[in-house]
Amino acid sequence: MSSRTRKDHHDDLGVPNDAQIVQDHPVRRPGSTCRPSRVRVHKAQLSDRLARRSPKLSDCEHKAEVDRLAAEQTNTPPALQRQLDKLKPTSTSPARINIVPEIEVAAANRLPVMVWLYGQLLSCTMGRKTDRRFALAALVYMTTLSLRPEVRFAARALRHSPLAMWAFDHPRTVSRTSVYDHINGICTRNATDLAVHANVELIRQLAETHPDIGKIGVVDASLLQAQLPQHKPNGPAERAAMLNGRWHKVGYIVYTDSNGNVTARCHGHKVVAITDLASTRPLVWTNVPASMGERDACRLLLPKLFELWPTCPMHTLVGDSLYDQEEAFARELEFDWGLHPCFPRAGKVSRAYPHVENEGVPSCAHGLMHREKAEGFPDAAWRAKTGTPRGQRAREDDARIRWRCSINHPDCSSQTTRPRDNPRLYTYYPRAGDGRLAMTRRALAIRRGSIESVFSTLKNRGVGGKGLHRLKLIGDGPADWVISLAALHLTAARVAHETGAYADTYAAAEHLGYLAEPANDEPFPYATIDEARRAASADPPPRAIAPRSLRDDA
Ligand SMILES: [Zn+2]
Repeated sequence: MSSRTRKDHHDDLGVPNDAQIVQDHPVRRPGSTCRPSRVRVHKAQLSDRLARRSPKLSDCEHKAEVDRLAAEQTNTPPALQRQLDKLKPTSTSPARINIVPEIEVAAANRLPVMVWLYGQLLSCTMGRKTDRRFALAALVYMTTLSLRPEVRFAARALRHSPLAMWAFDHPRTVSRTSVYDHINGICTRNATDLAVHANVELIRQLAETHPDIGKIGVVDASLLQAQLPQHKPNGPAERAAMLNGRWHKVGYIVYTDSNGNVTARCHGHKVVAITDLASTRPLVWTNVPASMGERDACRLLLPKLFELWPTCPMHTLVGDSLYDQEEAFARELEFDWGLHPCFPRAGKVSRAYPHVENEGVPSCAHGLMHREKAEGFPDAAWRAKTGTPRGQRAREDDARIRWRCSINHPDCSSQTTRPRDNPRLYTYYPRAGDGRLAMTRRALAIRRGSIESVFSTLKNRGVGGKGLHRLKLIGDGPADWVISLAALHLTAARVAHETGAYADTYAAAEHLGYLAEPANDEPFPYATIDEARRAASADPPPRAIAPRSLRDDA
């Protein structure tokens, strides 16, 4: 390959424009998540079967027998169940059915840090002063309420919904072409870093009442098709023609399994996020070319997380098997960031390492040894004590795990394993055995798979869809901002519920008549725009407060 074609093959970001990743997804077993409705039906089936077989049981005996059969079938060891219970999210949203989505957005819009963010987005005007409030409202509406990633549809729906217009403080409507112009201006002149700053601020507010928030991170990625032909450009000229100077941060990627079957392909972006397990809300995210590796994207996210939240208590990073494919990545997590990697095994480990037959757990004549203790890990506590910030490689890499015989037999000497020898094999959370931390590893894998991921929530709201459901706006900026506003509003809605802002906003909307059903004798039960503005001006205006990560006084 000549130097010229090599240069053509890479764009300014140093990311290849196309990539192929081979990944075998584990077979998905249905029923691995305990959804209440499924459990109910399953128990009813057991009950019917038992009633046919032994009809003479008393009600009480019958119920006890059904419970016993159900427990026997799910076959979750009590030790694993204890860990699963421990890792349950501590901050959750109320059931969607009781929520008025427009009020959720209205309450989120009035949070001080959101007022600050909107102010930033609107103030950044070049040239003549224009009122971009309606365009911003349409953009936020599109990412939260419209369920369809189309500006025209979102702007029309917003204009025709009095409650939604109230949620955005009745912006002055503008022509359709102006909406497109203004949205383009907002998206291209502002970096989505602003939204990530605001999001981390909201998470830090949640963490003040939920000490578990921020301790366990889950890294995950999702492909975002761009409004481009969804096939691989065959040469630099075709690529340039496709991108037409409007896209700079896109790439083409195809995922195949080891048999060569294509499992996913995308021409566009890839959004990679670190999500918090205790609240199931996104912490930090980045939108990169689809062809960028997920581990490399994660390497961009970790410095951002600890820059924005230097005291973040994270100690573990959970992910899928893609993250296990590189030894250096596990080493960086453990020794540079103080994070215990927790990924399913991908591929094999050289047989030359001791204990490889038991996935890094030593054994003696009495079976797998017990994990006695871990010492010398450069974790958050060690970093605080030695003044070593996150991101700096620990000078001592003598982290070690001590193992002893399961029955303490005097002939069996204790053993030590060191992550520095192979951080994928000698892991903090053992890959084998039935000790507490081995159970934690299994529970983390189950929780990661069963919590509804941020990305599936966004897709349910029409953000990040494929084919006809992809975002029709042109360019990297709109793609960045649509995913960022959608993710940010997930966190903001949670804060609104937890702080009581949702309840207050609900009461205000009810007072103004927005929640009343129009009737024949009262077709417009809600306040007029002027009345709503007067009511709003009677209250102190919502304050704008910048995130701590951008304030000098914090
Ligand atoms: Zn022994």
